Amino acid sequence: MVTLDSFIKDFSDAKPAEEKMPVLFVGHGNPMNAIEKNEYHNRWTEMGKSLPRPKAILVVSAHWLTNGTKVTAMEKPRTIHDFGGFPQELFDAQYPAPGAMDFAEEAKLLIKKTTVQSDLEWGLDHGTWSVLLPMYPKADIPVFQLSIDYSQPPQYHYDLAKELSALRKKGVLIIGSGNIVHNLGMIDWGGKAYDWAIEFDEKIKNYINDGNHSAIINYEKMGKIAQLAVPTNDHYLPLLYSLALQEKNESLSYFNAKCEMGSMSMRSLQIG
Ligand code: ZN
Repeated sequence: MVTLDSFIKDFSDAKPAEEKMPVLFVGHGNPMNAIEKNEYHNRWTEMGKSLPRPKAILVVSAHWLTNGTKVTAMEKPRTIHDFGGFPQELFDAQYPAPGAMDFAEEAKLLIKKTTVQSDLEWGLDHGTWSVLLPMYPKADIPVFQLSIDYSQPPQYHYDLAKELSALRKKGVLIIGSGNIVHNLGMIDWGGKAYDWAIEFDEKIKNYINDGNHSAIINYEKMGKIAQLAVPTNDHYLPLLYSLALQEKNESLSYFNAKCEMGSMSMRSLQIG
């Protein structure tokens, strides 16, 4: 006899909950990583093959700073070459992924902290496409970006990011794209990392391992090394978006964990 209880049980067994997508923080570094087949590029390529295939990709990039929070909502986001002094080959690179208007709309509904504006002007900046070109070279997965409201303090970004959590269960791969240590004024192309860069990167890693997100949000309290490693926090804030989405007891691993060019950390992480 089929009782109501057994019917409900059968029904729930037949429809397993959708797996949560992992969350990434990617140190994007030099825009040339998009086309140069170096260790970072190759690792991104491998990840694209091994991660569960997302229905859409949401990137919070260090290179889209706005007043208020915006989400790209166009059908065909353009590839933005927001840099200078690189070879023509990099300017020729295109990432013609479709937009993700439905998921953009959903992100707007999920975020209660502020009123998110739909944006039809931006597109995909190099914080997004330099990583996605090696990761998903076919550009056949819809992509959208969420901007960073640069008038807001770190805690604000961490709290806002938590509201995006439901997207993970809907098949959206969320990527924060920046760099934990990023001091362009002190870049030493081809040089070894400064001691303070290694020290800051290491301390942040230890805080991540300890789940001490409050210390990461309040990085300014780390004093001199924080001033050197994070002279402006545009590249640091995307890390907070990724960490905010880490749930209790969720696994965490690092990739491309290396400091280079004097003042750049490429440390990246996968949550879940
Ligand atoms: Zn950058």
